[in-house]
Amino acid sequence: MDTFDVAVIGAGPVGSVAAHALASQGREVLLLEANPHAARRFAGEWLHPPGVEILDDLGLAPLDCASKHKEGDGFVVYPDDGGAPVKLPYVEGRAAATFEHRELVEELRDKAANQPRVDYRPFTRATKVEPGRVDIQEARSDETVSIRADTIVGADGYSSVARKALGFDDEAKTVSYMGALALKDFDMPFEGFGHVVLGGPGPVLLYRVGSDEVRVSIDVPVERSDLRRDHAALHDAIVPMLPNGIAERIGQEIDEGNIRWAATRFRPHIHYGRDGIALVGDAVGTYHPMTAVGMTSGFQDVKTLLEASDIEDYRRRRSKASHVPELLSSSLYKIFRGEEGVDGSDKLRRAIYDTWRNSPDLCRNTMRLLSGAETRGPAFSMTYGRIAVRAFWRMAFQQSRRRGVSGIRDVVDTFMPWARWPLAPLLPQPVSSRLRQNSSIETPMKIR
Ligand SMILES: Cc1cc2nc3c(=O)[nH]c(=O)nc-3n(C[C@H](O)[C@H](O)[C@H](O)COP(=O)(O)OP(=O)(O)OC[C@H]3O[C@@H](n4cnc5c(N)ncnc54)[C@H](O)[C@@H]3O)c2cc1C
Repeated sequence: MDTFDVAVIGAGPVGSVAAHALASQGREVLLLEANPHAARRFAGEWLHPPGVEILDDLGLAPLDCASKHKEGDGFVVYPDDGGAPVKLPYVEGRAAATFEHRELVEELRDKAANQPRVDYRPFTRATKVEPGRVDIQEARSDETVSIRADTIVGADGYSSVARKALGFDDEAKTVSYMGALALKDFDMPFEGFGHVVLGGPGPVLLYRVGSDEVRVSIDVPVERSDLRRDHAALHDAIVPMLPNGIAERIGQEIDEGNIRWAATRFRPHIHYGRDGIALVGDAVGTYHPMTAVGMTSGFQDVKTLLEASDIEDYRRRRSKASHVPELLSSSLYKIFRGEEGVDGSDKLRRAIYDTWRNSPDLCRNTMRLLSGAETRGPAFSMTYGRIAVRAFWRMAFQQSRRRGVSGIRDVVDTFMPWARWPLAPLLPQPVSSRLRQNSSIETPMKIR
C-alpha cells in the first residue's frame, strides 16, 4: 500500500492550494482529482484581496490568469431607487484578482502538480475514506486500491465523500441559479470595478475575466427557476432594469440563448472534520456567491489548517471566523432579492443605499466585511444594526403618521425577523453553533 503524509481529495482551487502549501512544508502529498474537466463549470471568478494575499504568502501569486487585464478595485452598485451608482472601493489598497474559473483552477493545479513532493493523480476518484486510509479508483479501471495517509484533507466540494465518511450528511440546499454569459470586446462603464445591478429577480453582476471578455452573471432565485428555460421571460425580467449601454448587449446574448447555468447552494460552515480528516473549502459549507467569498474563505481554511495545532484547533478557529461571511452573504442576498413591500427588505435596501451614499465609514466597514478581511461578530452586528435602525425609524415614522400606534406595532412585527441577523454572531459560541446547524438563507438561526 502506498503511504503519504497527507492525501488531498479534490484538485479544485482549494485542494490545489492545500496540496501545494502542505508540500512546501515538507510533507509527501497525494492529490486526487476525479474529473479535471469539472473546472469548466461556471463557478468562482472573483478573488477578494485577502484571498490574493494568501496566494502571495504561499508563493502562488502573481496569477498568470489575472495578469493581462485590470484588477478589481472594488464594486459599483446600481441601486433600484433610480439614484446614481454607488462606488465601493476596497479599503486596504490591495485589489481583487479576476479570471475565468477554469484558468484559475488549471494554473493552481499545475503549480501544485509541479511541486516535487506532490503526487498528482488526475481522473482518480476517492471512493471510500476512513481515518488513515483512502480507497481510490482510476477512471476506466474497475480496480480499487487503497493508500495510507496520516492526514486526509477533504477538498472535494459540496458533495464531499470525506464529509460523508465523517457522518455529516446534511444536504447543501439549492438557493438560486446563476446564468453566465460572456461579452466580447465590451468596455465596462467603470473599468476595474465589479458592477452589481439590483432590482431584478436577483442581482446581476459584471466583471472582467480577460482583456477581451467581460462575464455577466444573472441570478434567479430557485422559485423563479422557470426563467432558465424561457429566454423571452428572462429578457423581460432582466433587461428593463439594466443601465443603458449594458442592457442592449446583454439582451442580445439572452435572446440568442448564449447562457449556461449553475446552481448556487447554502450549507452552514460548522463541520471542519475530526479523527485525522480535515475538511476545507466547499466540503465544509457553501455561501451564496452574492459576496464572492467562497474561494477566499477556502484559502483561509488552508492557511488556518497549516497554522493550527490539530484538527480540533482548526475547527474551533474556522467555525468562528466563517460565521460573519456566512451571515453577510445570506442576509445581503435575502435583502437584495426581496420584493417591494413584502417583508421590509425594500426598506432595508433603501437604508443600505442611503448609508453607502452618506457614511464613508460604513462603506469602509461594508467592504472589510465583504472581502473577508473583517470576520469579528461585533463588527458585523454594528454595521448591520446601524442600517436596520435607520430603516426601522423611517418606516415607523411613515406608519405612525398614517396609522398611529397600530402602524408602529406592524413595523415592529416586520422588523423582528431581521433582528436575528445582527444578534446571531453575538451569542456564546456553543449556543450559536447549535442554532447555526439549522440556519438557512432565510434565517441565521432556527430554534426547533
Ligand atoms: C455560480 C457560482 C459563482 C461563484 N462565484 C464565486 C466568486 O466570484 N468568488 C468566489 O470566491 N467564489 C465563488 N463561488 C464559489 C466557489 O466557486 C467555490 O467556493 C469554490 O469553487 C470551492 O472550491 P473547492 O476547491 O472547495 O471545491 P470545488 O471547486 O467544488 O472542487 C472540488 C474538486 O474535487 C473533485 N472531486 C469531487 N469528488 C471527488 C472525489 N471523490 N475524488 C476526487 N476528486 C473529487 C471535483 O471534481 C472538483 O475538481 C461561486 C460559486 C458558484 C456556483
